[in-house]
Amino acid sequence: MDASGWESNVELQYFREYLQIPSMHPNPNYEPCLKFLQRQAEQLELPMTVHYPVNEQNPVAVLTWLGENPQLPSILLNSHMDVVPVFPEKWTHPPFGADIDTEGRIFARGAQDMKCVGMQYLAAIRELKSSGVKLKRTIHISFVADEELGGNLGMRPFVTTDHFRALNVGFGLDEGLASPTAEFSVFNAERSVWQIHFKISGTAGHGSLLLPKTAGEKLSYILDKMMALRKVQEARLQSNPKLTIGDVTTINLTRIGGGVQSNVVPPLLTICFDVRLALDVDHQQFKADLHRWMMEAGGGIELEYEHKEPYVPATPVDDSNPFWLAFKRATDVLELVVKLQTFSGGTDSWFLRQLGIPALGFSPMNNTPILLHDHDEFLQADTYLRGIEIYKKIIASLASV
Ligand SMILES: [Zn+2]
Repeated sequence: MDASGWESNVELQYFREYLQIPSMHPNPNYEPCLKFLQRQAEQLELPMTVHYPVNEQNPVAVLTWLGENPQLPSILLNSHMDVVPVFPEKWTHPPFGADIDTEGRIFARGAQDMKCVGMQYLAAIRELKSSGVKLKRTIHISFVADEELGGNLGMRPFVTTDHFRALNVGFGLDEGLASPTAEFSVFNAERSVWQIHFKISGTAGHGSLLLPKTAGEKLSYILDKMMALRKVQEARLQSNPKLTIGDVTTINLTRIGGGVQSNVVPPLLTICFDVRLALDVDHQQFKADLHRWMMEAGGGIELEYEHKEPYVPATPVDDSNPFWLAFKRATDVLELVVKLQTFSGGTDSWFLRQLGIPALGFSPMNNTPILLHDHDEFLQADTYLRGIEIYKKIIASLASV
């Protein structure tokens, strides 16, 4: 397609209109998104309901395409409406302009993460509906708030509501990542986030002495243990080219606090680690290790968890999961090369998997640099349009299970 084709393409116009809504943190206003989605729902002749799991500022919109057999568990196509902040001076195009350049690149915050996916779902359904296709299972297309801050005002509470239960979701699709190669990334699992604060007490006193059991010595012991663990994981990742970052446990020192003045040995130091536990880690064992190190360090250490996510099993990608087989059938027909991975960060898929609902993370953006949360986030128009074709096959296949 050429420049005039891109300009006049109706699906690209919808996509760009959605991108032009600045639903940006820290105070996203979702009202314009809801108005836009309401117009989409009317155009598609699909009912839309809006739910407020926590407060009026954080809606969840759900469009529904009833299946031929609405008793069957449904397919949920989820996306989030919120986007992360921008530094406009670092952008070569206005971040909410959705400009198309001569190569067809559409520049906007949310072009990859993830307004593209939400609009591609709707575009695919528009085409399926207009071609007279009838699907067996009901499709719900959800647009949620607050994903970028962890979903505490969005998907996390929404999945506990009667509204969500009434959707009777049997399988979910949500965001993945762009892939710089011809392959497409598909994510069937996420690691467990633990953010751990050690509050380390020790002997206080004058900085000129060698007092026993100081907070500094204990901190050093804990730090050594955590960094040794980090080294093991680093070596694992480097020695096996098949592994990606989501396959190993990551450990990062993120905060250090404490101290009174420079010549005083302080009574308390705090240290915080962001840990993402790989799926092969025994949580009980890891917790026991932490407590053993605290004792070995000399005691007087308290542990506080800012986050302590439970173990959530991966979505099965074998014959036991008919939705996986349906997804794979569609990507095979399209001759897509699919690379299965564990997601490095967190997405709303987590909340579905936690309920035992199988879910995959997939954004059909191959040959595309990974620019989520980055300056000059873009998606090429033809890649976007190809994604609609891909979703048509996948959605039809999933809804026929
Ligand atoms: Zn996202």
